[in-house]
Amino acid sequence: MDVTSFGIDHNRLLRGIYVSRKDTVGNGLLTTFDIRMKEPNREMVIDTAVMHTLEHLMATFFRSHPLWAEKTIYIGPMGCRTGMYAIFKGDLESADVADVMQECYAYMSSFTGELPAAKAEMCGNYLDHNLEITKLESKKFLDEVLSCLKEENMIYPRQNG
Ligand SMILES: [Zn+2]
Repeated sequence: MDVTSFGIDHNRLLRGIYVSRKDTVGNGLLTTFDIRMKEPNREMVIDTAVMHTLEHLMATFFRSHPLWAEKTIYIGPMGCRTGMYAIFKGDLESADVADVMQECYAYMSSFTGELPAAKAEMCGNYLDHNLEITKLESKKFLDEVLSCLKEENMIYPRQNG
């Protein structure tokens, strides 16, 4: 099964959790999620330092999660800066990750302490972070989207559809 992200109508895409694609690797399947935090071309995008901090915190959350660590393949920022990609093992749908994403964004919105891996030897641009705005953006996405997900926040609008 292959779900391609070509053909989605970005003009009607809302914030939410979407299945971007599914790829067969060996005997297994990987599901790539589009964690869309901003409406494309209709909202201000996320600051680059915030994207970077989201990457560190989200990767830390999933890679240390008791259930999801072994399913987590990759967490990374979208080049357009409207959201994040998360790749997990398994044939998954948005509803399967809704609870853990809420957990993740609650973790990020209330994070305190030293930012994980933000040291020169562990990061390619360790000074380029913004924890406080990351917490605000995480809280906003949690309150306005993740805590009240509807079908339109989980199913892509299709072009000509
Ligand atoms: Zn980094």
